[in-house]
Amino acid sequence: MRLFLDGVKGKLRVPVPAFLIEHPKGRVLFDTGMHPLIQHDARARLGALADVFTAEFAPGEEVGARVAAKGIEAARVDYVVLSHLHFDHAGGLATIPNARVVVQRREWEAGADADLSTQLSFARQDYDHGHELVLVDGERDLFGDGRVVCFPTHGHTPGHQSLRVRLDSGDVVLTADACYLHRTLEHDHLPMLVYDRDAALASLRRFRALRDYGARLVFGHDPEAWSSVPAEMT
Ligand SMILES: [Zn+2]
Repeated sequence: MRLFLDGVKGKLRVPVPAFLIEHPKGRVLFDTGMHPLIQHDARARLGALADVFTAEFAPGEEVGARVAAKGIEAARVDYVVLSHLHFDHAGGLATIPNARVVVQRREWEAGADADLSTQLSFARQDYDHGHELVLVDGERDLFGDGRVVCFPTHGHTPGHQSLRVRLDSGDVVLTADACYLHRTLEHDHLPMLVYDRDAALASLRRFRALRDYGARLVFGHDPEAWSSVPAEMT
């Protein structure tokens, strides 16, 4: 629990979401969940993190299978937008072979720095698969029509980013781990481990402003809020 809300004791069972966005110009995944090896041998993949997190992850729940269940081959996903490089966001990248990977340049550079990677619990095996990269500095409108926009929400990690998706029904903001839970946003209650607290608080302010302008926020790992997120939105 304190990994999600600093100072709070107990355990928290959380969803690990990934999002498929279908746009006329391409198919986009926002985050990729965990690597399938975790289904069989979490310690082999996660090392010491397996002491902190107990993964409930069954065969068929890996992102490639989830996409296939929608009738889409993993090999035909055009873009993967990574919010950041942690194992529960970048781990499934290995199963999406042909996508261009859209990531903030400062996140990628942190992932290439041995000391910083260790400090941040990044693992190269999650993200270093030779994908074509689109390194982004700040905001990026992926298709040039305002429908799918990456924007920087640094703080959780050096180059964390979130995604704004403009649906016909309105804007949805996928916060990822710049805001784990509804409680994070309501009380500025940060997790125990934050790379840059000031930047993390600024990211929360940005989310509140987007919400005040009518955006629907989908949080990174909120079990209660997740239960009310529809399986599909248009
Ligand atoms: Zn996460």
